[in-house]
Amino acid sequence: MPQVDILTPAGRHIGRCDVLWSREGVVGEADGVAKYLEDGASEQQVGRRLLAEEERQRGFTDLGLAVVRWTPREAIDGGEIHTRFQRSAGPPRSVDAILRCSCCRRRLDECGVEAEIATWRRMVAQEFTRKVW
Ligand SMILES: [Zn+2]
Repeated sequence: MPQVDILTPAGRHIGRCDVLWSREGVVGEADGVAKYLEDGASEQQVGRRLLAEEERQRGFTDLGLAVVRWTPREAIDGGEIHTRFQRSAGPPRSVDAILRCSCCRRRLDECGVEAEIATWRRMVAQEFTRKVW
């Protein structure tokens, strides 16, 4: 799944997210201490990175997106992430943002890779329905 750049309707870049469930309006972010401590960052640098991260998350939520975070340890099991996602997905929210594929730079709804993934998702869903019913 390509990463997605999220911009305000006016075109200001807020950030590139690890995962986006565009239909549910949920951003998924893999957390890790390494992200903040890499290259022997000083305490001050770490503080600045944490602040920048907070600002970035606020940018996402200001656009109407929900944010789900997880640590590397949680990613191994996945159960907790799934619960968190379910809780965040909830009723449809109105998202007012430009979503752009980081690979082809096209809007998400015009990205060929996204279209392929959507087809694949539909196929999996159909397969699942066949097996269950
Ligand atoms: Zn693309």
